[in-house]
Amino acid sequence: MSKLPHQLEREGVVVTKLEELLNWARLSSLWPMGFGLACCAIEFMDTQSGNFDLERFGVFPRPSPRQSDVMIVAGTVTFKMAERIKILYEQMPEPRYVISMGSCSNCGGPYWQHGYHVVKGVDQIIPVDVYVQGCPPRPEALIGGILELQRKIKSGDLVKQA
Ligand code: SF4
Repeated sequence: MSKLPHQLEREGVVVTKLEELLNWARLSSLWPMGFGLACCAIEFMDTQSGNFDLERFGVFPRPSPRQSDVMIVAGTVTFKMAERIKILYEQMPEPRYVISMGSCSNCGGPYWQHGYHVVKGVDQIIPVDVYVQGCPPRPEALIGGILELQRKIKSGDLVKQA
């Protein structure tokens, strides 16, 4: 007779679903693309410094979209850059995630009313999983956004769009 999961666990055997295992691996090795658009990118760079030590969360910035599974949109999204951001996003392998960092990326920021050159939210061109508030958000806020993304991946309720 086969054993029940709780009986196996008592014997030191870990029982899980493949999808949960994959999600655990994904959330433990988030690799954001190293790029920035404006002042928020300075805070993004600061988050990678020794003071905040992103690598303790498995977050390790990469120089190429081909090696990245997270895009952190840090800064003002102008219409001129919008198409380039979309191309970079499409070059990332799936599953891929997006964190919108700061007011500009969230909704146009200080340019939301009169900024004729600014997209009023990066979610108009690519799907966003987590929004981080602030102008600019402090590194602690970005870390909070990364932890929220990890929580969403773990819960398995992230709906990815093509
Ligand atoms: S949200 Fe504020 S700090 Fe960030 S890019 Fe826009 S103006 Fe700069």
